[in-house]
Order: sequence, then structure tokens, then C-alpha cells
Amino acid sequence: TQRVVIIGAGIVGTNLADELVSRGWKDITVVEQGPLHMPGGSTSHAPGLVFQTTPSKTMTHLARYTVQKLQSIEKDGQGCFNQVGGLEVATTPARLEDLKRKHGYASSWGIDARLVSAEECLEMYPHLNKDMVLGGLHIPSDGLALAARATQLLIESTSKAGVRYLGSTPVTGIERANGRVTGVTIPGGTVPADIIVSCAGFWGVEIGKMVGLPIPLLPLAHQYAKTTTVPALAGRDLNNKPNGLNATLPILRHQDQDLYFREHGGQYGIGYYGHRPMPVVASSLGLTSQNVDEKNMPSRLEFTTEDFAPAWTESQKLLPALRSTQIEDGFNGIFSFTPDGGPVFGQAPNLDGFYVAEAVWVTHSAGVARALAEVLTEGRSQIDMTECELTRFEEIQLSHDYVSETSQQNFVEIYDILHPLQPKESPRTLRTSPFYSREKDLGAYFLELGGWERPFWYEANAGLLNSLPAEWKPVERDSWSSQFYSPIVAAEAWKTRNAVAMFDMTSFHRFEVAGPGALQLLQRLTTGDIAANPGTISWVLLLNDQGGIRSDIFVSRLEENVFQIGANTATDLAYISREARRQGQWVQVRDITGSTCCIGLWGPRARDVIRAISSDDFSNKGLPYFGVKNAIINGIPTTVFRKSYVGELGWEIQTSAEYGQRLWDAIFQAGKNHGLVAAGRGAFNALRLEKGYRTYGIDMNTEHNPYEAGVGHMIRASKWEEYVGKSAVDRLSKQSPLRRLRCLTVDDGRSMVLGKEPVFKNGKAVGYVTSSAFGYTVRKPMAYAWLPGNLGEGAGVEIEYFGRRIAATITVEPLYDPEMKKMLT
Ligand code: FAD
Repeated sequence: TQRVVIIGAGIVGTNLADELVSRGWKDITVVEQGPLHMPGGSTSHAPGLVFQTTPSKTMTHLARYTVQKLQSIEKDGQGCFNQVGGLEVATTPARLEDLKRKHGYASSWGIDARLVSAEECLEMYPHLNKDMVLGGLHIPSDGLALAARATQLLIESTSKAGVRYLGSTPVTGIERANGRVTGVTIPGGTVPADIIVSCAGFWGVEIGKMVGLPIPLLPLAHQYAKTTTVPALAGRDLNNKPNGLNATLPILRHQDQDLYFREHGGQYGIGYYGHRPMPVVASSLGLTSQNVDEKNMPSRLEFTTEDFAPAWTESQKLLPALRSTQIEDGFNGIFSFTPDGGPVFGQAPNLDGFYVAEAVWVTHSAGVARALAEVLTEGRSQIDMTECELTRFEEIQLSHDYVSETSQQNFVEIYDILHPLQPKESPRTLRTSPFYSREKDLGAYFLELGGWERPFWYEANAGLLNSLPAEWKPVERDSWSSQFYSPIVAAEAWKTRNAVAMFDMTSFHRFEVAGPGALQLLQRLTTGDIAANPGTISWVLLLNDQGGIRSDIFVSRLEENVFQIGANTATDLAYISREARRQGQWVQVRDITGSTCCIGLWGPRARDVIRAISSDDFSNKGLPYFGVKNAIINGIPTTVFRKSYVGELGWEIQTSAEYGQRLWDAIFQAGKNHGLVAAGRGAFNALRLEKGYRTYGIDMNTEHNPYEAGVGHMIRASKWEEYVGKSAVDRLSKQSPLRRLRCLTVDDGRSMVLGKEPVFKNGKAVGYVTSSAFGYTVRKPMAYAWLPGNLGEGAGVEIEYFGRRIAATITVEPLYDPEMKKMLT
């Protein structure tokens, strides 16, 4: 059995110990620098409000499990969760609209929620100022987590089950040999380990440093204050109950002023996110193992009254009962923020056996702990953790400056109403393709992803709107779906379908797998047979052992022992690199994304353009569909891949970065005679969806198997070699899917949705939207959605958008060119 060391006895570390013991793991040691009865991390003072619903299905489900788990931890008849419900109030019309969207997320992710009128808010919460509240969102299953108590009860129960706890014992080093962990260093010795999990909360950066692993989190102080007793709440029996159980009112959020509230018996607790970000360096706090008590602990800094002043004014406005009280006590408590607000989770890319579960709220603590226990014991978690993976960050996103700026920005925006496409304002232009200056000249509108600047459309194409045929004219959009959108997208889509367009594909991940062991590695990891001759592209899946989808990738065999991978995420690179290391010698993985660049040249006239600048053979014979070869274009050495995400004839043309601008200019010039335009991601997304191409992480993830997701064709049934997930897909291929990713079109031909909206059948929420776009071919908005397997083509459903139900129909897919005539010409 594996020897596990968990660093940190906060709510995450203790839950992890529990989840592992309950799965039969025996050799577990938890090492905690603080005293075990009050370790002194964020958990020791967390007020423990659990609002479960977010735009993220993963985070919502992690929270839902945490609620269940905390309810089950009990002693003396008292659990660790007080299910008082959660109430979020709107005091502005924009927030009221936002709550409708949030209600939609709750329906999508299976959380019972209700939009409530101002009157109902007041009934539920009589202290509210009736002149301010416009309405609210009530979630009955939300409530207060008794996090410190849960931690103590878990220490007690898991100790009985054999978990060793070393209190007042700092970990000062991680011991390693041959790329694997071997133990942790503690004063006077070593605790040997095969697996180490850092659950060190905001100290995570310091633990990461011990192994040269940058951890993208920033410790920030956040203000929390308690009032003196509110006369209306004085003298209740409740007031003598332990912290957390001494409340009956719902937990309350007033996000328009960055505030949240809970009861502490007769007193109010007020949390505030409206103050300036206050970054902290964890190592400067020292390893305090003495003198920890309620008021003295490393995670608790002095209250700065002046920062709290606006919060106090606004709190008294919303809750007039507070006007007769004062601030009795307050502190600036420290916890972790990250560049995208998610936790950092999973195995380190550079060290086998070293895992992290950090930047985790109490709200998600047990969910994250269970997911990690499942990864350790079964190799995957039942809740998809793609968006939490430590390896999701690009190298540039791991620098301290980036982490600091973006995490502070996240703190500032935590309660803001954010559009799903809203990009960071800063830092920008971290990564630009060699075409960047040309794109700017064409008036590109850039959105950011992974540090890359990606054009969404080009203002230079605005004039095309005048010549757009009537049936291509874009529909009017509502004020929400028209943000970060331009009707120019329709013109660029039209040009791609009817003439030719060039797309900047540089930001897609490209890496090379080379060496005599490369074929063996890729055969073992993917669902396709990639042993084809050099010059062939395969589109295949990476699966986990249970047949869940880890990713879809393109594998192009360039030479006998050289493969190029086109991948979705940095996590793909980390995974394949680790597997290569594990396989031993004879295979090397190298990221070539930044040293190369790529143009997608697609459309019925693409061949006319390329022929004008290259004497190589681009006929069907010279380069068949899913073929790849080297070619000289306008004197530039390139590698040309015959494939297309938009469903038209054409190629991805790749060259070394220094030739990029020259390649762009050559294609752009040659295209002038053939109606070529530069086109952006707006058109790209619409066109790929018309072709039914799924995007990993949005349309499908590890929770889905290939047959449900409609990508069963990426599994080579005749492949005899063993590969990860083979026995699972052999079994799954014989079952009929209980749910399916389906293509919907919107009946009225104009109502847009954006993704994550719930889908209803007979008044009941039965699924949710993943991607959506306007479908130019069918002249209707289209959406992909996860729906029950028994709903067939032609079935009518309703998509809920800001509380409105929009009729839609399950449609045969793909909507565009199902016979592949366009791509194969
Ligand atoms: P911690 O509780 O910090 O545990 C980490 C442990 O690791 C610590 O005990 C530490 O001593 C130990 N450790 C660190 N380094 C070492 C080392 N080298 N050797 C040994 N041990 C080490 N979350 C919510 O969900 N809802 C809320 O309402 C909420 N409100 C909050 C209000 C405030 C004021 C603050 C500060 C936080 C709040 N949070 C809330 C966040 C929440 O408290 C934390 O995210 C959560 O407690 C983190 O738990 P953890 O187990 O990861 O970290």
C-alpha cells in the first residue's frame, strides 16, 4: 500500500485523509505546522458561508458534495452544516438580470433554486431595507459550514481509523529520487512517502518552492467584522449554540456592494470584498506553532478600520437594524486567490508523486478532497477537474507578476457581473503571433486566451456587410449576447463559405513527440491507429482508464519517428510529457507552439490562392484529405496539413515564427484576386459548430464517454494494441448512452443563447447547453446540449435564457455538408 503524507490539517487536508481512509488506504500521515486543536490556517477563522451555485458545473458539484459531506460529519447529535439557505439580493436592475442567469445555472447543474420577489425577500429576511431590494435568488440547500469543527471531528475520527497526525511540525523540505518523491523533511527527521499532497492553503507557494514548482496563487487579506449584539436578535436560546449553529436567517449576499452577511447568535458577521487588494507573502508570517488562539494566528492580520468604512455604511443601509450596533471585532484574514479564480489541483508536471489541492474554499473543500482521493485510488475523479488542473496554466501565466496582478484583479471583480467572453484588460499582449501587426492594421478585435491575443473579427471587413446577400444578414441580438460580438462575423463566415478566408491558428497548442519510442507512446495513449505512413494525420482521443475523455488531439506523422500533436490545453502537454518520461528513454516531447505559427486557409477558392504562390502539388492526389507534407510557399519552407475545423477545402499552413509575417503577406496578396479576407474566431466558432466539431473542455470532458459525446468515430475498433481506456470503451460501445450531446436549432430563428443555459422538456430541466452560435447554413441560432439519451431528433425542447423559455428542436447533425463534399473536393 502507498505511503501518503498530507501537508496541512485544514479543511482540505483532513477531508483528504478521511476520503483516503474510507477507500481503504492505510498508511497516511498528516503533518501540520500549527497545533492540531487550532492549526491557524484559513480554516481556523473561516465564517463558512456556502453558496453553491456558480457558472461552473464543476465548482457547483464540488460544493454540492461538500454540503452532503459536512452534513454527515456529526458528534453529539450535531452536524457540521447549518442549512439555513442562501439569499442573494439585487439592488440594481442589472443584478436582477444576473440573478436570472444564475437561477439558470442552478437549473443546469441540478441545484434547487427560486427567484423571489422583493416581498418574499423581506418575509425571509425581515431586516432588509425594503426600499432597496428589487428581488432575490433563494437556494434552500445553501448554508453555514462549521469548518473548524468539521476539521476537529475529522482529525478525531480518522485518527481512530489509523491516520497519524503530527501537530506543531513544519515540513521544511520535500525529498526526491529519480523524479519521484520519497518523503518530507521535518525537524529532526524524515517522514517517508510515495505520495505527497500539499494541502497547505495559502502557504502553497512556499511548499511549491521546495520542489521548484511555481504555484499560481496569491495570498490576499480579506476583511471580516462582527457587530455588537443587534437588539432584535438579543436573548434568543440560539445565541448560546456553537458558532455556525447559532443562526436561523439565510446567509445573505449583497453583491452590488461586495458584501456578505451571516448571524453569530445575536451578532452580525460582515465580509467585505470592496477594499483594496492586500497581498501577503506567506513566508513572512513565519511558522507560528506557539500562541495560536482565536485572536492570534498566522492567517489573521490586524483589522484596518479605514478600509472597512464604506462596508459599514453600506451594511447599515441594507440592514437598518445595524444602525444601533457597532463593530465589536474585526480582522483581515488571509486566503488564496488565483489568476482565474479556480483551485489548483492535481499532480505536479515536474515531480511524480507530488500533488496539490490548494486555493480551495471551504465551500468546495470536501468535493476537492474526494476528487483527489479518487485520482489517487482510481486514476480519475467522477467530477471533471479539467478547469482546476494545476497544469492548465501556460508558462507565462506562472510568473509571479502575472499571478499577482490577475489574482488581485480577481479579488476586485469577485462579485462583479461578468460577461462570459469578457477578457482581462491587463496584462495583455503577453503572446502575439507573427501576424499581430498585420492583424492590427486590419482592425482586429482581440480577445485573450492563455495569454494569446486572438482576433475575433476584423473591422476592415465592415464594408462587406453592405454586399452581404439578404439570407446571410445577421439577426439583431439582445443586449447581453451582442457584447463582444460584431455583425462583421456574419460577413467573415459568408466569405469562408463562398470564397476563401485566412485564420490565425497560432494560439493552438503544437508539440512534437520524437524518437524511436514515439510511436509506442502514442499508440498506448490514443484511441486511433497512428502507425500509418508518414504524411498522415489522425484525429484521436485521449481517454482515462474508465473511458472518460481527457482530450481530442491531432497526431500527424511527419517522419518515421517524428509526430506533431495538435492539442487543446497545456494539460495535454503535461500528460503526454509525463507519460513519455515514465516510458523511459527513446522519446522526447517538445513544445513548438511559440517557435512556429500557423494560418488556416479555407474556402472553396483556397486552391486558387495557394497555387498562385506555390508550385507544389495541392491537388487531391498531391495532398489528400488528412495528409501532411512539406511545401515551399512563396519561397518559405512550410508544413501543410490538409484539415479544416470550419468544414471547407483548405489547409493549415505552418511555418517557423521568423517567416510568419512573410507568409501572411504572401497569402493575403495572392488572395486579393480570389475574394480572400482575414477572418476571426467569431466566424470560426460558428462554422465549426455547423460542422458538429466538439471543443474539449466546453462540449465534453472527463465525465463523458466517446459514444455519449458523439465522437465514437475517433476510436479505431480494429486497433489491437492496448491503449488507455481500451477495455472501458469496448464495454461502453455495447451500451446505449443514457445521455447525449445533441445539436439544437432555435425555432424562432433569432433568439441567441451563449452556453450553460438549462434545457427543459415538459417543464423539467433535463440538460444544459455547452456551445452556441448562429448557424448561417440553417439561418437559425444553434446550440449543442447534453440531453437524456431517449430524446431523439425532431424532439422539441426549451432553452431558458434570462428566465425566458426559447423553443428549440433536436436536429440531425452536422448541419453543414454531412457528406463532406466541401472538404474532399
Ligand atoms: P488552511 O486552513 O489554511 O490549511 C492549511 C494548513 O497547512 C494550515 O493549517 C497550515 O498551518 C498548514 N501548513 C502550511 N505550511 C505548512 C508546512 N510547511 N508544514 C506543515 N503544515 C503547513 N470560504 C468559504 O467557502 N466560505 C466563506 O465564507 C469563507 N470566508 C472566508 C473569510 C475569511 C476572512 C477568510 C480568510 C477566508 C474565507 N474563506 C471562505 C476561505 C476559506 O477559509 C479557505 O479557502 C479554506 O479554509 C482553505 O482551507 P485549506 O485547508 O486549504 O487551508
